Amino acid sequence: MTKQTILVINCGSSSLKFALIDVATKEESLSGLAQRLGSEQASITIKYKGDKQTMALTAPYLHQAALAKLIEFLKTNSLTDSIVAIGHRVVHGGEEYHLPTLITEKVMAQLKKLSNLAPLHNPANIIGIEAALAAFEHLPQVAVFDTAFHQSIPNKAFLYAVPQKLYKEHSIRKYGFHGTSHYFVSREAANMLGKDINELSLVTVHLGNGCSLAAIEAGQSVDTSMGFTPLAGVTMGTRSGDIDPGVIFHLTSHCGYTVEQVDAMLNKESGLLGLSGISNDCRTLEEQALEENNPQAKLALDVFSFTIAKSLAAMTVSLSKLDGIVFTGGIGENSDYVRDQVIKQLSVLGLSLNEALNAQAIRGKSLNIATEQSPAILVVPTNEEWVIANQTHQLIQE
Ligand code: AMP
Repeated sequence: MTKQTILVINCGSSSLKFALIDVATKEESLSGLAQRLGSEQASITIKYKGDKQTMALTAPYLHQAALAKLIEFLKTNSLTDSIVAIGHRVVHGGEEYHLPTLITEKVMAQLKKLSNLAPLHNPANIIGIEAALAAFEHLPQVAVFDTAFHQSIPNKAFLYAVPQKLYKEHSIRKYGFHGTSHYFVSREAANMLGKDINELSLVTVHLGNGCSLAAIEAGQSVDTSMGFTPLAGVTMGTRSGDIDPGVIFHLTSHCGYTVEQVDAMLNKESGLLGLSGISNDCRTLEEQALEENNPQAKLALDVFSFTIAKSLAAMTVSLSKLDGIVFTGGIGENSDYVRDQVIKQLSVLGLSLNEALNAQAIRGKSLNIATEQSPAILVVPTNEEWVIANQTHQLIQE
């Protein structure tokens, strides 16, 4: 059979991540990132056959310019013919979308309507889709939603205790995000444990720049820590996670802040960055805390680990038992320090770490790092690109 690949596109407001994935081998034949889109420093980095090339983009330095460079590269290396479809990560699918969806004009119109639920994310996803539709008009394009996996959450867990009209008229509810990652690592965990996913009760813990947890019962998401937006839940790189909503009223009514300023502060200047005053990067903070004894870095990591442990305990309320937890994302996969700090605070759930195994779980390794008497504590590298490629391929074959 001739080789078939899916081009996966994950478009942010000033970035565009991409990967070309072979559907038969799961192999990523090419990957890369365009950054600082919209500015004169815009560039694209393409990784191919062990080589990494960075190229400047031309005016107007936008997503279209990044895709044009990518297509040129694909053509030069005879990679375009194998592409059978394009899979797009779309952050918010609202209540309408709980399955991967072939992009049509009608779907585009609905996605645009959903932008008001995710103004920081969906408009950027739509720019990526429009640029790809223009560049690859002959190929089917599929939207895979971050919210989709969480559509199984029951209403007692997704409703906020506010007047019902907010849900009915304005769709205000918990949606949850990182769905493709929670889905993927829960299936990988079942494989590692040699169990059917339908028999397992798991908490998946995705810790990257954005962080979220999910309770997964018999393969279905039944609760998650993010909410109406990806600002809710645990402490993140630059996002505050949960705070008392009263703080916002106080800041805007009595402290001279505008709503826009508070929005920017909670999304971009809070979390690990805000607490430490040093960095949003967990690795930098660990170096500062452990090697330089910096108290602010230590405090930021303490708050971070505490909110994760607390959220993990809260997730277990939705489970019938606890077979295991799964760490993933840049921090979850790499930081033995954060894993240790989180698990230390959860002895009440019977969780305990094997320190030697914990220290071994770095850089793309799957490992069970629990002691024998503890529920499983797995470290599993996530692969959202593969989920998007696989679901896109399945859909175009139907
Ligand atoms: P992601 O968004 O999944 O790429 O994750 C980014 C986060 O992972 C950043 O906070 C990084 O500092 C963190 N990270 C990556 N490698 C390590 C490491 N070896 N130790 C601690 N944190 C890490």
